[in-house]
Amino acid sequence: MSERWARSLRPFSKKLLIPKPTRYSKPFWEATKRHELMIQECADCGERIYPPAPICPRCLSENFKWIKSSGKGKVLTFSTIYAFGPSWCAELLPYTIVLVRLEEGIVMMSHLIDCKPEDAKCDMDVEVVFEDITEDFTMPRFKPI
Ligand SMILES: [Zn+2]
Repeated sequence: MSERWARSLRPFSKKLLIPKPTRYSKPFWEATKRHELMIQECADCGERIYPPAPICPRCLSENFKWIKSSGKGKVLTFSTIYAFGPSWCAELLPYTIVLVRLEEGIVMMSHLIDCKPEDAKCDMDVEVVFEDITEDFTMPRFKPI
């Protein structure tokens, strides 16, 4: 891990790094804390946007609303990590990173949990679950359904 990259994140512990919310992503992270998955939607053209952005990539509007996701989707692809350099990651291994296409159309990257690496499959149905990392920070994860 480069020092520059490490400085861009706020370390929770040596085991986990927590993203720093921006003014655009703050509503998303506030919702995960409530155990809700909210998606930014352009109020002018209806484009759904993830990650949250300052302007709509389709029509350049700055008018947004937030819609509640069903939290359900399908695995587009995944990768299981069996080895990773820093020794403090050893107890996390192996873990599976997934790209999930939610029912609302956006694609979200997260961890796949409650699933053995050998059982992970493309097109499998998953749903969001929320992992409270700290009192102030909750990460969305996905599990098979
Ligand atoms: Zn738009």
